[in-house]
Amino acid sequence: MIIALKNQVRKEEQEHLIHWLESYGVRTHISEGEFQTIIGLIGDTTRIDTDLISGLDIVESVTRISEPFKKANRKFHPDDTVVRVTDQVAFGGGNFQLIAGPCSVESEEQVSVIARAVQQSGAGVLRGGAFKPRTSPYDFQGLHEEGIRILLEAKQRTGMPIITEIMDIGHLPLFEEVDIIQVGARNMQNFELLKELGRLHKPVLLKRGLANTIKELLMSAEYIMAGGNEQVILCERGIRTYETYTRNTLDLSAVAVLHELSHLPVVVDPSHATGAARYVRPMSLAAAACGADGIMIEVHNDPQHALCDGPQSLTPEQFAEVAAAVRRVREVIQ
Ligand code: PEP
Ligand code: MN
Repeated sequence: MIIALKNQVRKEEQEHLIHWLESYGVRTHISEGEFQTIIGLIGDTTRIDTDLISGLDIVESVTRISEPFKKANRKFHPDDTVVRVTDQVAFGGGNFQLIAGPCSVESEEQVSVIARAVQQSGAGVLRGGAFKPRTSPYDFQGLHEEGIRILLEAKQRTGMPIITEIMDIGHLPLFEEVDIIQVGARNMQNFELLKELGRLHKPVLLKRGLANTIKELLMSAEYIMAGGNEQVILCERGIRTYETYTRNTLDLSAVAVLHELSHLPVVVDPSHATGAARYVRPMSLAAAACGADGIMIEVHNDPQHALCDGPQSLTPEQFAEVAAAVRRVREVIQ
């Protein structure tokens, strides 16, 4: 249930109302927007009489929320959420970022070359997998702790914030200085992992699962937010369909739908969505055009010899061109 207050309600009146609502055993979530304060109620609201609340002097309107996601719901929080990573880097509410870097961290040299190049081309966040969720146990699994060390070194050298994927909550101590924790598609419904990430005060980028609906993605975001961590960035990375010419099918309509249903920022990953470097440019431009709050692109200095996802990786030169084209699209749509 959401209760929209009238303008210029006195603090004491607001607090009195909240106190009274909480006496019904529900939790309240206050969103102070530019023009209006909204009180969201979480929990069993069946005993609360909506007519009684609507009749109060300070209340503008009362609406029952039918969707099962509450904290992630735009009705709860009409303004876009801005997920701030550093003073310079934020997602959402008009803030847009390019995230770029290799699929997996392979060596200090590789990360150093790529980080410098993508930073010069305007990427705001450096990506790189240290723990890799590979389909085959015989494929390269990532450099693990050493991989995170290499990313942190690049962060120190370039000043770029870093994002890397967590697969096991037991690894959390290694992620202390990681700026954004990525939950990969395969772990979107690892609910125990999501609950633990909900206890942190750190941005989480949550990727849509291979075969998950938009509602399921929002429910997974809700798991993180229910724990108190509201810094969630959603990521559309393609879903599995019967199509075989692309690795997955990029569902760009998800960007529009998510922006309608939720206040959280939405990032698009055209690399995993298409699986082919030549499709990354057109899908990046499309993502920018449909209002994505960021784009995550895999970049490798030697794609042919990459230990993971070489065919979908752009070279630093290709990335520079795509980044410039994305900026032009954003200028046009703004
Ligand atoms: C990745 O971004 O490195 C990755 C493994 O992506 P996904 O979880 O979307 O497959
Ligand atoms: Mn990859």
